[in-house]
Amino acid sequence: MSIMGSAAFNFDNSYARDLEGFYVPWKGAEVPAPKMVRFNRRLAEDLGLDGDALDTDAGAAIFAGHASPEGASPLAMAYAGHQFGGFSPQLGDGRALLLGEVIDRDGKRRDIHLKGSGRTPFSRGGDGKAVLGPVLREYILGEAMHALGVPSTRALAAVTTGEEVMRQNGMEPGAVLARVASSHLRVGTFQFFAARGETDRLRQLADYAIARHYPELAESDDRYIGLLTAVRDRQAELIAKWMHLGFVHGVMNTDNMTISGETIDYGPCAFIDGYDPAAVFSSIDSQGRYAYGNQPKIAQWNLARLAETLLDLINPDDSDDAVTQASEVINGFPEVYQRAWISGMRAKLGLSGQEEQDIEVATGLLAVMETQAADFTRVFRSLFGAIEGEASGARALFANPAGFDIWLGKWRDRLARDPMPESERRTAMDRANPVYIPRNHLVEAALSDATNGDLSTFERLMEALSDPFTPRAGLDIHALGAPGDFGPYTTYCGT
Ligand code: AMP
Ligand code: MG
Repeated sequence: MSIMGSAAFNFDNSYARDLEGFYVPWKGAEVPAPKMVRFNRRLAEDLGLDGDALDTDAGAAIFAGHASPEGASPLAMAYAGHQFGGFSPQLGDGRALLLGEVIDRDGKRRDIHLKGSGRTPFSRGGDGKAVLGPVLREYILGEAMHALGVPSTRALAAVTTGEEVMRQNGMEPGAVLARVASSHLRVGTFQFFAARGETDRLRQLADYAIARHYPELAESDDRYIGLLTAVRDRQAELIAKWMHLGFVHGVMNTDNMTISGETIDYGPCAFIDGYDPAAVFSSIDSQGRYAYGNQPKIAQWNLARLAETLLDLINPDDSDDAVTQASEVINGFPEVYQRAWISGMRAKLGLSGQEEQDIEVATGLLAVMETQAADFTRVFRSLFGAIEGEASGARALFANPAGFDIWLGKWRDRLARDPMPESERRTAMDRANPVYIPRNHLVEAALSDATNGDLSTFERLMEALSDPFTPRAGLDIHALGAPGDFGPYTTYCGT
């Protein structure tokens, strides 16, 4: 293993330092020929990294897990998780490493993490690897979500390893994603120690999470119920944003839910084209547990699992009281979520005032869209034109626009009473309703061309997604739905 001479990273590894026993120190596997596929220079600069030093073969070796940079303390994190409702007491980083943490230009601590860097003590039956298609998929999705204004892990680099890795459809190019997160603390991290009855460690973990993500709670006597409340609120905001954009995570297991409130682990995820609350894309989600419309309920269920892990900390002397306090927080989720949801829907509908009936206006449009599987993203983006009678763009998205026309009348009545100045509405609506989203057929085309050595489709898609609210010449096809022959879409986990 070669060590990069000058320090390209200014590591400060609090997890390794403060949480011994919560991880296994580990190294990435050596690989034959690490090569940079895509390096995110803008993000590297935000992180205060040396982009010139890292956008190189030496950088590729680091991001492949093959070489360890100065100051890193690579480790595999322990965590557990409920997967599709069933509890696995030991998951952990089976193919990933936390390389270390850096403090970014805004003074925020960020994890640099490798996914696909080889087997670890948590690998179970897995090979510890990742392949290029899914690595670039996570790259596209993470960056797109960020540009859409959704808290998310980010993509710093995608590298190939020079290995061929066996997957469902044969051999594929081995790859590693270097991703950045405000932390990798998951609901499942808490579950790992709770399941072992390790209350002291849980307290240590909770205090670490508070210091890192909710420092305003650190001095409070009620800080553990405060932590639960804060995570609930961040997750409610997050899921509302997913719903506003038509995003389906696909595998909302508790090990894939962060304490920070960032979206994490883009596996079998997808954006809906036609509006459908029952939309499911994951090959293994036959019951529709993680369907688009179920996501708020599942988030609440996951938060209840987090609550269970915190009971001993919330009130060590009176478990009934701890349960009462925690239940109150969890039962409050629907209201907090609903508030976040309607607030985002008002923005999508060009409303700045608040009326009780706004919920009906919002759900009324969704109901009409659902009957005809109208394209979610395009309908919202074209609504502005319909305000002043230019409804042809929006109407054309409905096979039978009669229901839409009726709704339009109600919406126009509501708009007439809204305090937002007419001159501001277009900008406001355009900022809430993207033109470009990572549509499934575009993502698939980008991945398939990239796997065949042609990155141009991927680059064009990234260009569109980098500024999703501004239509630009030459990117027209990125604003359209899937062609008729694209067919039903299926995505796969663990690849
Ligand atoms: P995920 O479905 O990616 O959220 O992963 C769930 C669990 O499976 C985590 O503990 C992963 O580390 C592990 N895992 C997924 N793929 C692999 C793999 N190829 N090799 C080893 N572990 C894996
Ligand atoms: Mg995961």
